[in-house]
Amino acid sequence: MKSEGEGSVSVTGNKDGAAGVLYIVATPIGNLDDLSPRAAAILARVDVVAAEDTRHSGRLLQHLGLQKRLVALHDHNERDRAGSILDELARGRSVALISDAGTPLISDPGYVLVREARNRGFTVSPIPGPCALVAALSAAGLPTDRFLFVGFLPAKRTGRRAALEPLRKESATLVFYESPHRILDAMGDISAVLGESREIVLGRELTKTFETFYSGTVAEVLGALEADPHGTKGEFVVMIRGADPVGSEGDESALDTDLLIKLLLPELPVKKVAKLAAELSGRSKNELYQRALELKQD
Ligand code: SAM
Repeated sequence: MKSEGEGSVSVTGNKDGAAGVLYIVATPIGNLDDLSPRAAAILARVDVVAAEDTRHSGRLLQHLGLQKRLVALHDHNERDRAGSILDELARGRSVALISDAGTPLISDPGYVLVREARNRGFTVSPIPGPCALVAALSAAGLPTDRFLFVGFLPAKRTGRRAALEPLRKESATLVFYESPHRILDAMGDISAVLGESREIVLGRELTKTFETFYSGTVAEVLGALEADPHGTKGEFVVMIRGADPVGSEGDESALDTDLLIKLLLPELPVKKVAKLAAELSGRSKNELYQRALELKQD
């Protein structure tokens, strides 16, 4: 709890094994050997384990030879369940939050609980470990000095393209999570919005038997995925090289295609405008043709 004399600034520390502490424990993203000894020790010591899927996490605890009180905390019950977990902390019990894989709160539940625990002055302590985006970035060979993690793209094409559009000029490496049944559609939209010549790296099934990295241009990687019988199986981290900074040499992806189309439309037929804009920007001709039609109507 907050110590006496503290105002609105909350200062809490690391208290391995202490009572009344909420531990945020990272668990493996595939290879069980990636669970750290410290994570195993904390899981053994806490009174309660809050898990996204109790059946799934039950198997991890069984693997560790642990029998623990498991409570479910997932996207649909987090607001309600956070209250009872805070009550446990208030009674001096320690709680470990784990998700199905990797680091909790990273595209996983836990934000409401951590926020509320901190607001109420409880110590929240991370037990770091596997995280798919960090593992993927560390081995992708793309710039890591600045990256933007975007989580999952929307499930439907219109939403996905709308989410990608503002990222066209982003110069940081872009990182997304994607599921196997949407990877091809997502790649198609990435090609349409960011251009088929952007450099992309996909990390698939990291730390598992069929771990694979695909790297090349968007068009090349899409071709490789389609040609690989296992290409669309497993889980993916999608990493895309950021746009070249505005004004730099070869600044194709940062080109304002709307402006270009507007300048060319009074001079040339729509088809020719789309062709030229596609050549200059590296973006898909069909996509720019549709955009030119829209702008012409405006
Ligand atoms: N909290 C997790 C973490 O720390 O990475 C992420 C959970 S999110 C619900 C699940 C997504 O993470 C998957 O759809 C996939 O995009 C990515 N992911 C998880 N494990 C992975 C793996 N072994 N290889 C590649 N991507 C993985």
